[in-house]
Amino acid sequence: MSSPEHDVIIIGGGPAGATTAAFLAKEGHDVLIFEKDQFPRYHIGESMMPFCYYTLEKLGLADQMDKIGFQQKHSVQFVTTDGRISKPFYFFQHKDCPSAVTWQVERAVFDNMLAGKAREYGAEIRENHKVLDVIRDENGKVVGVEVENSNGREQHFAKLVVDASGRDALVQSKSKWRRRDPALNKIAIWTYFEGAMRDPGLDAGATTVAYLPDKGWFWYIPMRDNRVSVGVVADRDYLYRDSRDPAEIMKREIHENVWIEKHLESGKQVGEYNVTGEYSYRAEYCAADGVILVGDAFAFLDPVFSSGVFLALKSGELAAEAIDKALKEGDTKPERFQEYGKTLCEAMERMRKIVYAFYDEDFSFAKLIRRHPHLRPPLTDLLIGDLFVEEFDELFEAIEEICELPEPVDYGFKIA
Ligand SMILES: Cc1cc2nc3c(=O)[nH]c(=O)nc-3n(C[C@H](O)[C@H](O)[C@H](O)COP(=O)(O)OP(=O)(O)OC[C@H]3O[C@@H](n4cnc5c(N)ncnc54)[C@H](O)[C@@H]3O)c2cc1C
Repeated sequence: MSSPEHDVIIIGGGPAGATTAAFLAKEGHDVLIFEKDQFPRYHIGESMMPFCYYTLEKLGLADQMDKIGFQQKHSVQFVTTDGRISKPFYFFQHKDCPSAVTWQVERAVFDNMLAGKAREYGAEIRENHKVLDVIRDENGKVVGVEVENSNGREQHFAKLVVDASGRDALVQSKSKWRRRDPALNKIAIWTYFEGAMRDPGLDAGATTVAYLPDKGWFWYIPMRDNRVSVGVVADRDYLYRDSRDPAEIMKREIHENVWIEKHLESGKQVGEYNVTGEYSYRAEYCAADGVILVGDAFAFLDPVFSSGVFLALKSGELAAEAIDKALKEGDTKPERFQEYGKTLCEAMERMRKIVYAFYDEDFSFAKLIRRHPHLRPPLTDLLIGDLFVEEFDELFEAIEEICELPEPVDYGFKIA
């Protein structure tokens, strides 16, 4: 077995991998990312949560967001099937701070910017390099990766490997660690429109969540260049009830929501229709000897509140802190990453509760706020991503008066 050539090898250069790499390289560690695609590359996940700001700021990227000209997002709003709009949740009304404005991003551009930052701090990124598997030593410790590129196969070794391979989730798939959230097993179909209607003023960049019957929903995400990302999410049985053709399903569902239908009237559909299933999972373990999981490679939660990129950035930041400390102290035992997993799982459980409530027949935000107007601030805290605090007991008790909330799952924070 070869000795480590690098401090850290990272599988995948999306937001989680690039963030982990940037923070570690900034601390002087030798970091190598293998990315199977070539930047800039398309990715779904365009609506950001306000608290993305803080990780971007630490990376010196917050100013870049407006320089690039991403569509600003000031609020989230909810629309009933007959077209009634909730009072928008304006982020600045809640906390007037720089994170009160966030963005709708083309991920090709956003991810390329993050990868550029990782490179600027000294990380190396090898694009068009697909990791086939991790390499383990005789004790089962992960010591490197086997990679395929246009020249064939190579092996590379490092003190630690970070799996940031997104929903491919290399380590959890190979190790059979994936645990699905059965109540959140949805399908998403999405595409893009040009020239569709935008709301005026501050609402021009709002994310709209528009309901369908049976608690399905549309996302309507206005982006730059007169483009809108439109997706429909619902149970498999509901979406596939009379067709499996994504274009037909999208057209059918557009007629199920008055607001969506009106907003898309002037729009022209462009590009392909995309479909994904296998929603909401978490790995049994957040780390094992020699390997740590970050971003979607660790866990994926239904995207109704746009938490994915935020959790990818934050998990990259938290993992990098733990790895940096471990490397500097010369002790990379897996137990050192227990706290990372625990912190992340606790935050994800808070988000998971509100996602469960969203899908419950009896729950609505309007009902909750009518009953408990003073709980609007902590509810907005959750929606902006202020998840890494423990102040939500009263909010969850109030939600439980309306609907049942899930118990935390008893995995994810464990070490294999
Ligand atoms: C339908 C849908 C809608 C969503 N909407 C939103 C939204 O509005 N807002 C939001 O915040 N989030 C959203 N998300 C979630 C968001 O897309 C993800 O949470 C986010 O991209 C996770 O970042 P990541 O870095 O963990 O993974 P990714 O962004 O997927 O990056 C992983 C990278 O790893 C590379 N890779 C994979 N396998 C290998 C391999 N074997 N070798 C080398 N490289 C590899 C991939 O090419 C990719 O570049 C949505 C997700 C879905 C499915």
